[in-house]
Amino acid sequence: MSSGIPAAPDGKAAAVFLDRDGTLIEEIGYLDRPERVQLYPWSPAAIRALNQAGLKIVVVTNQSGVARGFFPEAMVETVHGHIAALLAAGGARIDAYYYCPHHPDGRVAEYARACDCRKPGRALVDRAARELGIDPERSFTVGDRWFDVALARAVGARGVLVRTGYGDREEQQPPPGLAADAVVNNLAEAVSWILERTGRNTSQVEDRTSQI
Ligand SMILES: [Mg+2]
Ligand SMILES: [Zn+2]
Repeated sequence: MSSGIPAAPDGKAAAVFLDRDGTLIEEIGYLDRPERVQLYPWSPAAIRALNQAGLKIVVVTNQSGVARGFFPEAMVETVHGHIAALLAAGGARIDAYYYCPHHPDGRVAEYARACDCRKPGRALVDRAARELGIDPERSFTVGDRWFDVALARAVGARGVLVRTGYGDREEQQPPPGLAADAVVNNLAEAVSWILERTGRNTSQVEDRTSQI
């Protein structure tokens, strides 16, 4: 490993579970075609910094527009391909994209149901943890909604609320009993906050060194 976060003794990685709309890209309502994707200007550099630090980056997004019939599930994949291309042009890479297409009030029968994967449900994080070898308890969530913070609580991660998207509104209306580990202006600040925490975690580095 060249730099950044050392692998823990169990070999599992730390990750950032990243919300998409209002966090990585502009919140514009139901995003139904790739042309409408707009990265925040700081997003490529922020993602690149996480790449360089050796953190995995996993998009976890609720896409109930599928269940509501606003766009087909394949469009979600198309949009993610477009986001990946935009980030690649900025030298940045997201490791994986996971989404929930469901909603209990949806009108597309196939997707109209309660599920465990709609945030704050933890099923997508559990799947990512399994498929990518991630330890959620060494990980972070970043998002513009309280349910992104609630997801962190559910999986034992640290949760950062950003003020982009719905975040400034959300900050004014914290749900009872739920507090973010940090509230920051945007993804760039969230990444700085995360890198400060992980960079300070020298005990893991020392543990690893002593084992070698
Ligand atoms: Mg969002
Ligand atoms: Zn779901």
